[in-house]
Amino acid sequence: MTVTDTPPGFTGGRLDRADHLRRDEAAIRAARMHPAARFLVLDRLRPLLAPEGDRLQWVRRAEAPDGPCLFLGLDDEGLPHFAVDGPADGLPGVATDARAAGARLAGAEAAIVAQARSLLDWHRRHGFCACCGAPTTVARAGWARSCGACGSEHFPRVDPVVIMLAERDGMVLVGRQKGFPPGFYSALAGFVEAGESIEEAVARELWEEAGVRVGAVRYVASQPWPFPSSLMIGAMAKAESFELRLDETEIEAARWADRAEVADVLRNAGPWSAPPPLAIAHTLLRRFVGSAAG
Ligand SMILES: [Zn+2]
Repeated sequence: MTVTDTPPGFTGGRLDRADHLRRDEAAIRAARMHPAARFLVLDRLRPLLAPEGDRLQWVRRAEAPDGPCLFLGLDDEGLPHFAVDGPADGLPGVATDARAAGARLAGAEAAIVAQARSLLDWHRRHGFCACCGAPTTVARAGWARSCGACGSEHFPRVDPVVIMLAERDGMVLVGRQKGFPPGFYSALAGFVEAGESIEEAVARELWEEAGVRVGAVRYVASQPWPFPSSLMIGAMAKAESFELRLDETEIEAARWADRAEVADVLRNAGPWSAPPPLAIAHTLLRRFVGSAAG
């Protein structure tokens, strides 16, 4: 069977994030005034897509609404790119749900959606200092917030999530949560907790949710998941048995599937359905099908 692999969704960004410019207010001001600077408007966190729906709709500074304006980076030609939080009324393009945008855009532009959505959402929810409660203001061109009252600086959060396939004798474990559409199964997943390695989080989640003990854990790939700020860390884990003991508050059903079954599922011809290519669970299943049997 032929399996083509693709990078995980929301990855493949090509902008130079140019961290050295973020603390240089004059440079950022000049970048914003650059006549060819490009602005991506997110209307209630929905990025503007061109009417054809397959590329981002960039606008010029004069067209962009007033609102928090964050520096995304420089393109190959050195042109500055910004994200703006504000209404898209009257602008060309269509404000589009970020998941739908991520599925429709090429990787480099989907990565910009992940960056912009996650960062703007963080600013929306972090208007007050976690140390003293005073209002905070945007700093470092959007890559921090600072508190004038106590001097604290706050940085955008990234929340690590492990997502994994337990594997044994050429079969992998998939499960479904109660809220999933009928027939839909995915890799099990959970947040990494404080004081825990990725490997430990994988082993704990598989034990808690499915009652499966695992040995070796192998990192496969990762992706940003900007709803609002997850970093999905995809892994494979060697299961010690096929026996399951489900935590039914988390997992309604689970099943072991071999390569042939997963390959059928990935071409929409299997006994269950899997996450779409945008999701890293799809990447994990695809890599499993493409890996050597055994
Ligand atoms: Zn403070």
